[in-house]
Amino acid sequence: MGQRFDQLENALSGRVSRPGDARYAEAVAIWNGAIARKPALVAHCRDAEDVRRAIGFAREHSMELSVRGGGHNFAGHALTEGGLMIDLSEQRNVTVDPAQRRARCGGGTRWAELDAACQQHGLAVTGGMISHTGVAGLTLGGGLGWLHTKLGLTCDNLVSVQIVTADGRILRASEREHSELFWAVRGGGGNFGVVTEFEFQLAPIGPIVQLGALFYELERGRDMLRLANQLTRELDDDTSMFLCGMDAPPAPFVPAPQQGRSCYAIVMVGLGSPELHARLVQKVRSALAPLFELVTPIPYTALQTMFDASAPWGVRAYEKAAYLDELSDAAIEVIVRHFPRKRSPLSFMPVMVLGGQYARVREDAVAFGGRRNTRFVVNITGMTQDPSAFEGEVAWARAFWSELVVHAENTGSYVNYIVEADVERVRASYGEAKYARLAAIKAEYDPHNMFHLNANIRPRVA
Ligand code: FAD
Repeated sequence: MGQRFDQLENALSGRVSRPGDARYAEAVAIWNGAIARKPALVAHCRDAEDVRRAIGFAREHSMELSVRGGGHNFAGHALTEGGLMIDLSEQRNVTVDPAQRRARCGGGTRWAELDAACQQHGLAVTGGMISHTGVAGLTLGGGLGWLHTKLGLTCDNLVSVQIVTADGRILRASEREHSELFWAVRGGGGNFGVVTEFEFQLAPIGPIVQLGALFYELERGRDMLRLANQLTRELDDDTSMFLCGMDAPPAPFVPAPQQGRSCYAIVMVGLGSPELHARLVQKVRSALAPLFELVTPIPYTALQTMFDASAPWGVRAYEKAAYLDELSDAAIEVIVRHFPRKRSPLSFMPVMVLGGQYARVREDAVAFGGRRNTRFVVNITGMTQDPSAFEGEVAWARAFWSELVVHAENTGSYVNYIVEADVERVRASYGEAKYARLAAIKAEYDPHNMFHLNANIRPRVA
């Protein structure tokens, strides 16, 4: 491996690392501490040219290739066992053009960096709810967050990408250039090449938004979820709703006896008039009095980092998710039966509420798999710092999901939340027509499936 190390290092402007190097240890320490695969080499690529050379090197030496954007994926797809990992963490530059309301960022950028740069100009694009998530993986799989009801998915706001393909071409893909490839990268994940630059359309957001989080004891979860199901039909685009089963944090707004207790929360974020938001919060309060609450104006950047501590780097994590059209009484019964059975204080159940601009985008506008009239993404997230408790949380998530998924249209899910990405599951996630189109594009740009550490789309055999 020493000879290969030298050969690759000589070819790149960035460094190469191997087991034993501090740089290597940093690159392979991904967010999900339950996954510990060991690449033989890590190429710390500085630019698209480095990526092109690293891809060529992997091909020449028949090494499995993995790509690390933010390293935040539940399934740990950024890590290959024994192959070559392309690490993009040096590519984190962000530039914002406030006049055009556009931002460009490198393939290793995290949301904290993109949000901060855009907010300097009062702008934003839909981003993930945890700020140490990578822009790359999130965008390529779709991109849900507080802004999807106002702006659509992150990938709906993508203007162009620079992408390095399996055969070493460095391409710009947009609606005008390589448009099929551009369609595919908006939801099709990392299947088509390594994206070294993203260009986004931005919109005016903040700097202050309205937060209304109302918390309920477990016994009233059923009532809260029923109320939320009804309210989601009435929301305007400026209101984002999020539901959660969680343990109450040790925060000043939580009464001491409730800290650390499992509860449910309905979180409403107002992006428009504070009065309208206050009226909605009051409506929920009057319909169902909360046990405690946090209602306050908040900077958009603080909203974007609010949950960071709940998903610490290196935690052991497992995830199951389902799209639901309705929080029907039957689905709610499954939730209130299973959620309290979790053991770890970190395990939680975030429910993304869809609608608004997300729902208005044409089904076939981008490759993203979720249907636009789906209303909820229910995540069941087992997380623990205790290695001996991990299997128990995995079992909890699986048992919960297997009863919940009966109420979903199929076993497909948002691909960014899939841990066990078998072909059938991925196909179900996209549906037959989109999967077939993606498989044809895959055959054109990556016929040998070099980029297979992802929710994999198999190249269509001609
Ligand atoms: P990585 O682990 O680096 O990569 C993930 C996949 O993308 C891999 O297959 C990788 O090879 C590929 N990839 C990465 N970078 C590139 C690139 N530049 N070019 C080509 N392929 C690349 N999703 C949401 O939509 N909204 C949320 O609010 C949200 N919250 C989350 C919270 C937590 C705690 C976690 C663990 C995940 C969350 N996600 C959310 C899911 C998230 O979108 C995915 O985990 C995503 O894959 C993370 O991207 P990354 O770049 O950090 O991941």
